[in-house]
Amino acid sequence: MMESFVFPGLATRVVFGSGTIARVGDEVRRLGHGRALVLSTPHQHGEAEALAASLGDLAAGVFAGAAMHTPVEVTERAVAAYRESGATAVVSLGGGSTTGLGKAIALRTGADQVVVPTTYAGSEMTDILGETKDGEKTTKRSPEIRPETVVYDVDLTLTLPVGLTVTSAMNALAHAMEAFYAPDRSPVITLMARDALVAFRDGIPALIADPRDKAARARALYGAWCCSTALGYVQMALHHKLAHVFGGSFDTPHAETHTVLLPYTTAYNEAVAGAELRPIADAFGADTAAGALWDFATAVGAPIGLSAIGIAEADLDRAAEIAVKNAYANPRPIDRASIRALLQAAFEGRRPE
Ligand code: NAD
Repeated sequence: MMESFVFPGLATRVVFGSGTIARVGDEVRRLGHGRALVLSTPHQHGEAEALAASLGDLAAGVFAGAAMHTPVEVTERAVAAYRESGATAVVSLGGGSTTGLGKAIALRTGADQVVVPTTYAGSEMTDILGETKDGEKTTKRSPEIRPETVVYDVDLTLTLPVGLTVTSAMNALAHAMEAFYAPDRSPVITLMARDALVAFRDGIPALIADPRDKAARARALYGAWCCSTALGYVQMALHHKLAHVFGGSFDTPHAETHTVLLPYTTAYNEAVAGAELRPIADAFGADTAAGALWDFATAVGAPIGLSAIGIAEADLDRAAEIAVKNAYANPRPIDRASIRALLQAAFEGRRPE
């Protein structure tokens, strides 16, 4: 029998395709704006300038200082640039770091956001903002944070390096994994999570063979949209908590951290949520969901084991301590000894049982 559910509806307009960057101007105008500040990281400054040039009078300038984990000092400079420019909207061109900066500006100024994602991290559909100040990361959720419009352009992902293609896909799959057992899940989100598994299962091996394979890029970017939607509309649990512990307290790289943890957080919860996680095992033709993700990660050359992100065995006690400091919802109860055992397994990097 169908279980009862609540589906809140999707708040963000999505434009998906090839060459869709040409529609950014129309999307800014559609929201009622005449001036938008274009945001990027220093690495994507050139692409941001090209977008601003194509926007003509709509572009109020470029701020190319976005950085990982949205440092508040960068946001303060960006807000000053935004106010000086006369813009009433931002166009965030890039991965999760640039999307984060756009969200931080929106939260402080009420700016509307048009996001043009170029990785699979999945910040664009969410109402979540993680910010860092004095080395501490805090997370906020608020309706003002959620972008108004997302323009997915497959062409912009052709340059994503193979390493980041793989880890960013694993980052996205982590959102799908936790969506399967989220207490507030609904059939729409579960369908999207299932579709994402197939998209990445087929897309990523093709992209390793040819990173400029446009059909495979489209499949992967579609998977990223599905996973971002899952992240934005249902609760995440242990996996995201542990990724936050390592990113926040050990300064490990974001996508890689998700990658090396995923098979082990999946195994931990599969012990009690086997039926919910079954679609993962089925999609990959494996015995278990955790085994499926480990096999996939290994096959696509993803980093395996916590040492790959610079964690030493001596760090595991402290990580377990931090991970159990505050209570949070998870299908399987959490205690220090079980989390320490999970981390040991993640450190050793063997295929989960
Ligand atoms: P990123 O945005 O830092 O990008 C990594 C690097 O790759 C940057 O130098 C970027 O300019 C470059 N890059 C991006 N796309 C490229 C492309 N197509 N071609 C070539 N280079 C490209 O990394 P990320 O993994 O996308 O995002 C990580 C950040 O996003 C973290 O700070 C994380 O906390 C945040 N995040 C937030 C949410 C949320 O909902 N709040 C969700 C996911 C991630």
